[in-house]
Amino acid sequence: MAFENYEVWFVTGAQLLYGGDAVVAVDAHSNQMVKGLNESGNLPVKVVYKGTVNSEKEVTATFKEANNCEKCIGVITWMHTFSPAKMWIHGLQALTKPLLHFHTQFNKEIPWDTMDMDFMNLNQSAHGDREFGHMVTRMRKNRKVVAGHWQDEKAQAQIAVWMRVAAAWADAHDMRIIRFGDQMNNVAVTDGDKVEAEMRLGYHVDYCPIAELVAVQAQVTDAEVAALVAEYEDQYLFADNCKKSGKDRAQVLRAAREEIALRRFLEEKGAKAFTTNFDDLAGLDQLPGLACQRLMAEGYGFGAEGDWKTAALTRTVWFMSQGMPKGCSFMEDYTIHFDGKKSAILQAHMLEVSPLLTDKKPRLEVHPLGIGGKNDPARLVFTSKDGEGIASTIIDMGNRFRLIVNKVDCIKSKALPKLPVASSLWIPRPDFEVGTNCWILAGGTHHTAFSYDLTVEYMQDYAEMAGIELVVIDENTTVNTFKKDLQLNEIYYMLNKSLS
Ligand code: MN
Repeated sequence: MAFENYEVWFVTGAQLLYGGDAVVAVDAHSNQMVKGLNESGNLPVKVVYKGTVNSEKEVTATFKEANNCEKCIGVITWMHTFSPAKMWIHGLQALTKPLLHFHTQFNKEIPWDTMDMDFMNLNQSAHGDREFGHMVTRMRKNRKVVAGHWQDEKAQAQIAVWMRVAAAWADAHDMRIIRFGDQMNNVAVTDGDKVEAEMRLGYHVDYCPIAELVAVQAQVTDAEVAALVAEYEDQYLFADNCKKSGKDRAQVLRAAREEIALRRFLEEKGAKAFTTNFDDLAGLDQLPGLACQRLMAEGYGFGAEGDWKTAALTRTVWFMSQGMPKGCSFMEDYTIHFDGKKSAILQAHMLEVSPLLTDKKPRLEVHPLGIGGKNDPARLVFTSKDGEGIASTIIDMGNRFRLIVNKVDCIKSKALPKLPVASSLWIPRPDFEVGTNCWILAGGTHHTAFSYDLTVEYMQDYAEMAGIELVVIDENTTVNTFKKDLQLNEIYYMLNKSLS
């Protein structure tokens, strides 16, 4: 239900050369295919058949309508007959929505015994999809190509991935990110060009003095705080010092007050993501750790120390994976555990890890935080589930954004009695040495957006839509070929810039 306000348009390409009967048949087939796709139960977004286009005028009108339709998050094209591709030029030039080219065919098998020349003239996808594909390539237009019969679940799964990414792409173009405070002083990797980010990635980044949040906090009532703490008691285990008569109970109440204020503030501003900075908390009692954890679980993007790019990506990753079972979070590479081929990286943050990563009841605890000079903050403590996932980040290379994705395997972690934070322990693929070597060569951050549910394919689709660089580190990566990829990309993006 998460994507019920969106739709994807299905546009069939043909031409009038083959007569009226062909036009009728193409339309009937298209209707049946779209109905079948919707009824498959495999697609998260509704497909709407927008008719067959037989001329340049019809193509251009349909694509312009798609641009102007708020519900439409992308267009699927398919050529039933041969559709001469010059008629697609102006429409493709105008189209601003994500494009998926579905190389399919109405009939699954060749009707060997009955097939005649009329059948051949009508069912020409093998032929027509190449003509269309040529034009899109000739125009250097990014798109996803999916090849397979329309009833094949593998093809449908690829369309489903693209739909989720297109939905997140639409969401990113309506995303405001609030930064409380600036970047952490002197930090390079989390910074970047916010103008270029808005042009290229869609989202808008604003600054807000923390004093504005403090003013909202002052309006929060004791009754609201009590109600939220009752919710905590329902959802979490409580450390003794956090229980009703515990010595740090007041810190839990103050954390709840901060959470209410933060959520209210973001709602009032229409913001979908935010950043904090532990060095910029004047007027707040404690670093809002618990609040950030809970807001992330609700879908707010979060980045620590002013990291707005990771805040945006965390929101995007959450949006893509809505309704999926395993969860996602903002993460940070904390400390290394060397153990040969099983060498792993402890993932955590000062406090801010989403409780979506655990399947156990998190424990609410209050402890001192040796940084930022504020009072002891509340936080949820847990260890994450086992299983594979992807860690992603976006960096600003000066002339382009680079998306870096690493496949990782979360493994069983040990208790950290003296480091009471939520954490995960993962081995980057192909292993620690190659994975981290390549990540560092690529210039990747210490902050990531992590997801158990998403695969590399989501990030490939995202990079295509955004027109940004993508580098993937997985089980097939070697340092030498990865270096070569980075060098080739350097040339490609230099030339690409001069072509466009
Ligand atoms: Mn950090």
